[in-house]
Amino acid sequence: MSVDANIDICEVGEKKPRPADDELGFGTIFTDHMFVMEYDEDTGWHDHRIIPYGPLSFEPSSAFFHYGQTAFEGLKAYSADDGRTLLFRPWENARRMNATGERLCIPPIDEELFVRAIEELVALDRDWVPSAPGTSLYIRPFILATERYLGLKPSSSYTFAIIMSPVGTYHGRGNDPTKIYVETEHVRSIAGGVGAAKAGGNYARCLKAEVRAARKGFHQVLWLDGQEKKYVEEVGTMNVFFRIDDVVVTPPLQGTIMPGVTRDSVLTLLEDWGVKAQERRLSLTEIADAHRAGSLQEAFGTGTAAVITPIGQLQWDDLTMEINDGRTGDITGRVHETITGIQSGKVVDRFGWTTEVPD
Ligand SMILES: *Cc1c(COP(=O)(O)O)cnc(C)c1O
Repeated sequence: MSVDANIDICEVGEKKPRPADDELGFGTIFTDHMFVMEYDEDTGWHDHRIIPYGPLSFEPSSAFFHYGQTAFEGLKAYSADDGRTLLFRPWENARRMNATGERLCIPPIDEELFVRAIEELVALDRDWVPSAPGTSLYIRPFILATERYLGLKPSSSYTFAIIMSPVGTYHGRGNDPTKIYVETEHVRSIAGGVGAAKAGGNYARCLKAEVRAARKGFHQVLWLDGQEKKYVEEVGTMNVFFRIDDVVVTPPLQGTIMPGVTRDSVLTLLEDWGVKAQERRLSLTEIADAHRAGSLQEAFGTGTAAVITPIGQLQWDDLTMEINDGRTGDITGRVHETITGIQSGKVVDRFGWTTEVPD
């Protein structure tokens, strides 16, 4: 694909120094360029352009500063051994960004333009895609409501931008099993709320529980349903899977949890392998019973940032549940190897999940 005539490119005069692949953290360093466009009611989305990465400027009265009318996405570009640069299921992110927008009264973006903008931006900053195992270029599209008005209503103007950050492993500690604290006071989502939307404001509410759990020595919290605080929903900002009695169980998409692209990929792989999987409600009581009976075999979280995160221990009030002796389980390891293999071009992509970034 050639450079889209609609996307103006203004390149940086001098490129920034790039960090070595073994020095990468998560989301602290940004590439040379970003994509930006604006929306207003008269012209729709317009002024698509790629410009040097730098500050965006907004008046203090802009709606997003006050009411959190914002949406975001997260996906990655990977460097394959044969030199190709691959994106993993970017069309799913385009669709989900519009689903989030729909929930928050943000006008839709042309999905073709969303993917094209990412391809153009990655192609321009291609030398920022790291190539060491476990590294990738994290891509963050986001939308801000920019109308200068303090009354509460859907904004009449928006800014959409895409920034990119070369990243190492998300937790900075490789892929060792994590210790998880079951959060029984706060909830991240309720029926009718925004749990299925990547809405900026829905993440601040999670911080306090995460901080409390971290102080007690845990890596993440396990969120329960907002109504009865009985059923498993998500772990940190990941979807969650449990393997009990050779059946892999994950909570269903009923509006309170994120329809994760990684979650969907895991379910597709399990079906392909003939591993029995169920999307159904799963209570902490059932998990504790399975643990007592010795049939809780493994558990893991899924999400773009860390791909697959094994869970080695669950703390539910006074009950400590060790899972698989704190080691990574068989299915956990296999989905991790397969998905990261497909993402980096090492495993044949039989599902058509990857798309190559054109020159
Ligand atoms: C983004 C996100 C996920 C993971 O979705 P992926 O598409 O797999 O990256 C899961 N839970 C929450 C709350 C999220 O924000």
